[in-house]
Amino acid sequence: MDQRERRGGRFFGRRVNCEQVPQLPASIVGQVLDDPRKIPYLLVWRSRSDGTVREAVRVGSYSEPPGPFLMDWTGWVEVKRPDGTRSLIRAVMRQLPRNGGKTRLLVCLICQIPRRSLFGWQVDYWGRYTTSARTCPWRCRSCAGLRYESEGGALVHRGRGTIARLFEMYGGPLRSPRPEPWYPYVFASPREAAEAGVCNLA
Ligand SMILES: [Zn+2]
Repeated sequence: MDQRERRGGRFFGRRVNCEQVPQLPASIVGQVLDDPRKIPYLLVWRSRSDGTVREAVRVGSYSEPPGPFLMDWTGWVEVKRPDGTRSLIRAVMRQLPRNGGKTRLLVCLICQIPRRSLFGWQVDYWGRYTTSARTCPWRCRSCAGLRYESEGGALVHRGRGTIARLFEMYGGPLRSPRPEPWYPYVFASPREAAEAGVCNLA
């Protein structure tokens, strides 16, 4: 961690945890690429507190009409938001170090490193709060400036009430369970999504 951000054990910099940001796992992109029907999928991230849709994308395997400069688009997907902005993302197969199996990874557009997941929001340095995030083209955790919840000891809560103090006397500081990554709901058709009540076919 950057030492300038730390003073007296307190964290002063911007802090957005990757668990609070829509995450696009390579496994779901793999599902789209492996689907012989070659249809786009709809991915929807709903707020875990109130169920509202916070992010949605259409993911389909990408190809260009044949032209004079042929390029191999195998493994590429187009990730499109409802506002029309799109990212072209490349999935690659990588050998697993141990059992000889293979896994799919997504190449980050910024650092070009293959990653297990990409993220749709990044730290908003102009945002009002230190936890502000804004949408961005999909990129890896480190290029989006995101942290893990566990970094910087955020998992340990020092309680202030009498009860919390009692617990701490006997068991040390209270610990929260590790937060879950924010994965999308996956729909293979707009109809499926409409039936689940997350989108309107109109
Ligand atoms: Zn990156």
